Amino acid sequence: MAIPSDPYYSTDPTDPRVHHVFSDCANGEQIDPKNWASGTGGLPKCGTCTNMGG
Ligand SMILES: [Zn+2]
Repeated sequence: MAIPSDPYYSTDPTDPRVHHVFSDCANGEQIDPKNWASGTGGLPKCGTCTNMGG
């Protein structure tokens, strides 16, 4: 199941430096809510999201 989302990313520099385009991305779900930010952050797309069809 892939649930499209507006782009989002983590502001934590220790997290993978990618943005996500699916709200149920397994990697995106790891982002702590306090580090969650809307947009791409100028970062490349997450490989998992790409594999999900993003
Ligand atoms: Zn992702």
